Amino acid sequence: MKILKFGGTSVGSAERIKGLLDIIRPQERQIVVLSAVAGTTNALVEISQAFAAGDKDRAASLIHTLHDRYRTLIVDLFTTEEGLQNGTELIDYHFNLIASFSSDLFTPIEEKIILAQGELISTTLFHFHLTELGIRSKLLPALDFMKIDEDNEPKIDFIRENLSELLLQSSDHNLFITQGYICRNSFGEIDNLRRGGSDYTASLIGAAIGADEIQIWTDIDGMHNNDPRIVNGTKPIANLSFNEAAELAYFGAKILHPQSVFPAQRYNVPVRLLNTMEPDAPGTLINKEGTAKGIVRSIAAKDGITAIRIHSSRMLLAYGFLRRVFEVFERYKTPIDMITTSEVAISLTIDDVKYLSDIERELTDFGSVEIDRDQTIVCVVGDFGVNTHGYAARVLDAVKHIPIRMISYGGSNYNISMLLQTEHKVEALRSLHNRLF
Ligand code: ADP
Ligand code: ASP
Ligand code: MG
Repeated sequence: MKILKFGGTSVGSAERIKGLLDIIRPQERQIVVLSAVAGTTNALVEISQAFAAGDKDRAASLIHTLHDRYRTLIVDLFTTEEGLQNGTELIDYHFNLIASFSSDLFTPIEEKIILAQGELISTTLFHFHLTELGIRSKLLPALDFMKIDEDNEPKIDFIRENLSELLLQSSDHNLFITQGYICRNSFGEIDNLRRGGSDYTASLIGAAIGADEIQIWTDIDGMHNNDPRIVNGTKPIANLSFNEAAELAYFGAKILHPQSVFPAQRYNVPVRLLNTMEPDAPGTLINKEGTAKGIVRSIAAKDGITAIRIHSSRMLLAYGFLRRVFEVFERYKTPIDMITTSEVAISLTIDDVKYLSDIERELTDFGSVEIDRDQTIVCVVGDFGVNTHGYAARVLDAVKHIPIRMISYGGSNYNISMLLQTEHKVEALRSLHNRLF
């Protein structure tokens, strides 16, 4: 069985939704994972922010605008009275629900319910569209099988058991449709897999049921060798190993959700990145093997990074020091991305600053603490095995005119990362591109 995930642009208009049938073959057994229609989740975030700020007028006006967009979309999508009627009832139901949160109690629970509406609408609209065309499909409610635990980690066994049961109940169907991004948390509440999470949904489903392949259909012809939004002349990469793709996704290549490679890698399910606008383009195949060794594959950047330096003479010749430092981050459930150490200091980076002031207070017990915000990790990915040489020199030479706060090399064979101020990111990406490719 294959898993096909279509992102926001791929379902961004009635035309695009209709066009999905150029790619999906309804007679083949497959699970189609859909994102919300492009722009919807951003609009839902804005609506939630207006509610949270108590600005009901702004919320109402944003809801009205988004509802109107869907009114136009369904007129273009459905061709029969009945189809249009079903579409109208569907969007009215969801927009009434969104508007019902105008009460004064607006917490993260209500926000997550609002954020879930985009995927609930897009999947049902597609199901109605297929029904109108006489094509059989089965909607699988992601909220019945996609689950995360108290640490926001997916519960793969739960997903496997519940999804397999749903598939078994509908064994006479071939084409299944489900929502990306949304899930339930350990309290059973509606939650999500963070922005861009539909890729993660597809990977989790593929891993859970041991799919033959996961296809991520998006608006570009695969993983490029640099961020195409910033650098001109980037090129798609035909084949990447799981390790390389995981580093790129984690360190900012927006085409893949940061966590989305891990489930596929763990269960060895190949992932293909494909372009809805150019379905015959080869795209990128991500699998165990990857291809050539010892070459630079791609460059990515992750913004919103905060660097923390702890300077302490107690670190000198001491053991157990690093453990105690790391325990502080563990207590606040804050992941660390990069680390460098010297004899008397340690620098590390985080992107989640929710507990930064608590962390800073506790770290002060060890020595002096310096914090630098607005940092970016620039990550050069390739297969730099222990026996290769010259890559670090080439990378650093390409950024020699830019101040570098941290360098990390050798953590894995696949990554050379640098931390720099975000204002220098564009120049760093362009200069690396010109000199490395
Ligand atoms: P979707 O809505 O289909 O999930 P996304 O916008 O999340 O699509 O991801 C696709 C976008 O990722 C591309 O349009 C491109 O601008 C951006 N992107 C950033 N870095 C890369 C990269 N290295 N290769 C390809 N695309 C990238
Ligand atoms: N709709 C969600 C978002 O915009 C999930 C996704 O598109 O992958 O973040
Ligand atoms: Mg995406």
